[in-house]
Amino acid sequence: MSEQSSIRNVLIIGSGPAGLTAAIYTARANLEPLMIEGEPSSTSDQPGGQLMLTTEVENFPGWPDGIMGPELMGRFREQALRFGTEIETAKVSRVDLSASPFGVWVGDPTTPEPTYRARSVIVSTGAQSLMLGLPEETRLLGHGLSTCATCDGFFFRDHDIAVVGGGDSAVEEALFLTKFARTVTLVHRRDELRASKIMRDRAHANEKIRFAWNSTVTAIHGENTVEGVTLVDTITGEERPLAVTGVFVAIGHRPNTDLFVGQLDLEESGYLITHRGSHTNVEGVFACGDVQDHVYRQAITAAGSGCMAAIDAERWLEANDVH
Ligand code: NAP
Repeated sequence: MSEQSSIRNVLIIGSGPAGLTAAIYTARANLEPLMIEGEPSSTSDQPGGQLMLTTEVENFPGWPDGIMGPELMGRFREQALRFGTEIETAKVSRVDLSASPFGVWVGDPTTPEPTYRARSVIVSTGAQSLMLGLPEETRLLGHGLSTCATCDGFFFRDHDIAVVGGGDSAVEEALFLTKFARTVTLVHRRDELRASKIMRDRAHANEKIRFAWNSTVTAIHGENTVEGVTLVDTITGEERPLAVTGVFVAIGHRPNTDLFVGQLDLEESGYLITHRGSHTNVEGVFACGDVQDHVYRQAITAAGSGCMAAIDAERWLEANDVH
């Protein structure tokens, strides 16, 4: 194989709804994409992305009866493979985006030659919800413990719920949950919210919202589903139980952009900056999904942006006569 023919047209990093949709579209455009899908390393970081940590998904159009998150991602993957996407189960350890063809390493990042070279790269590495770090989080995520009110709020009709955090996300989640819940207790480690004034005012005005100030969650109880939490007062150290059957952790998200620091433009919060659809500041490098979206964070919006990245990449390759 000549060096020229071993250069991939499209290399996709990450395999959530965004990356897999980009794979389906670029594969159907005969671009023979290679996807590096990641590899299982922790509960919050694995191939398939955040939907692999979800139970039932009821708001993905086309599934009127709902579908389990892992099954939905399995179907995305099957569809990407059907059109010839090559998928490698590995983690990208380094990228060189200084010039096309771009260099992508898996395994040892110190080797001088990259593992792959690609004319275009689609970044879909996603984001992770920050978690409290309690051991029971792994067991209960998707079973009364959630990181997404839009996704899961509906399942908590008439429940008493705790939302952990004091920023805009926590207040937004709490307000949304009041549509379903009997009560929502905002558990915050300080005695005032970090959230913007308008959000604070809304939270204080909502009769269903209560506040557990100066409190941290030190344990979530329940074997198969959430049955309550233990709170500790950050000032007195006193422990007390809070009877809830749902816990939403809303202490922020972290985009998976470590690989791109110094090479792609990032917002202060670490998210990739895109313009004109999915274009990054480097010609030939595109980004889609949660790695560049801290606003919507839905599977369907990620999938939509994956389609955009595929079309942008296809047009860029054509315009630059490299296909
Ligand atoms: P954030 O502003 O960083 O707030 C995170 C909150 O979680 C803080 O209150 C923090 O407490 C708390 N926290 C962090 N680690 C914790 C831990 N280990 N245990 C307990 N509590 C912990 O994050 P965000 O709310 O996700 O917002 C991120 C950005 O998006 C912000 O700029 C926000 O304004 C924006 N946003 C805007 C909207 C909107 O305008 N509608 C909605 C969502 C997000 P401390 O306060 O003590 O640090």
